[in-house]
Amino acid sequence: MAEVKLINVSKIYEGGNKAVKEVNIEIREKEFVVLVGPSGCGKSTTLRMIAGLEEISEGELFIDGKLVNDVSPKDRDIAMVFQNYALYPHMTVYDNMAFGLKLRKFSKQEIKERVLNAAKILGIEEYLDRKPKALSGGQRQRVAVGRAIVRKPKVFLFDEPLSNLDAKLRVQMRTEISRLHRNLSATMIYVTHDQTEAMTMGDRIVIMKDGVVHQVDTPLNLYNNPVNKFVAGFIGSPSMNFVDGTLLSENGSILFKSLGGELNLNLNNTLKAKVAHLTGKEITLGIRPENIHTSNSGGTSDYQSVKTILDVVEPMGNEIFIYFNLDQNQVTARIGAATKPEPGSEVSLYFDSGKLHFFDKETGLAIN
Ligand code: ADP
Repeated sequence: MAEVKLINVSKIYEGGNKAVKEVNIEIREKEFVVLVGPSGCGKSTTLRMIAGLEEISEGELFIDGKLVNDVSPKDRDIAMVFQNYALYPHMTVYDNMAFGLKLRKFSKQEIKERVLNAAKILGIEEYLDRKPKALSGGQRQRVAVGRAIVRKPKVFLFDEPLSNLDAKLRVQMRTEISRLHRNLSATMIYVTHDQTEAMTMGDRIVIMKDGVVHQVDTPLNLYNNPVNKFVAGFIGSPSMNFVDGTLLSENGSILFKSLGGELNLNLNNTLKAKVAHLTGKEITLGIRPENIHTSNSGGTSDYQSVKTILDVVEPMGNEIFIYFNLDQNQVTARIGAATKPEPGSEVSLYFDSGKLHFFDKETGLAIN
């Protein structure tokens, strides 16, 4: 298995559109790395450059220490799984999986062993004689994955492989691909726009926007220490809440006061030390929905209450999402399902001021 290294890789499409800008990523052997970001951020283009399906305009791509910019896709020892499965409709499942091996002149016996082994891993042994049209979406995607497995490639590339599946099947295939990664000990690079897929599957995640890599990190580090407001808002569902305000220094304390005055939080000593140099400046506060509570029982001295009127209440079964407004920003809290508050009612909510994030209002960069 292999490591993959991108050094200052850019893609400029005809017409001058720079879709990928000086991307640097080092993917380690056996690592599962997810490229994630909103539609159009350049993640598929990056994957296709690794596959050799798009020319690299600038920069260098190394697979296992070898510069492969000019190596053709078939000689890169990689296998790619596409969103639309890309199966041959007139061939059986067996032949679809065997096709690449036949082209590479593997013996009949070797092909049979590899196809049967992959079919077993994926639980599609009973469908080997069927044509793709006689399969469900999930089964077709398994065949597409099987076609990659039989090649025993150095690197697996996945381009939004689960996007065409319904929600339940997506979750199932997600765990299957994670298990496959563990069992094959393979290097895998996976593209998705879905932050949940990224968080649950990736050893590390590459967050992209407008062709630029914003952060490369483990899921937990991204969640807890986002480098900027974009990453903070993209990772986590429901998203982090943001409120603009000013830091005021009062009798030795530092207070965050929102611009419209509806949120006032006294900062604890840890946060004070971080932001003391910014008093008097406008700043963006971020707080995740799970850090706003409906009671302060079991809380710490960091809990600070705010009175508000509930706008919308969404019961999810195991928890409830509540929505309310602060200075005309919609703010979300996720609370326990034990008691369901009424929309329109006035409630006291407790903000855990020990769990606040702060961002530069102009640049969006996190203040650490
Ligand atoms: P993502 O996979 O993140 O949705 P893509 O890599 O597909 O994004 O696209 C990145 C940008 O490059 C987009 O602005 C898209 O319109 C543009 N793009 C993609 N393919 C081409 C192409 N063949 N020619 C010109 N522009 C393209």
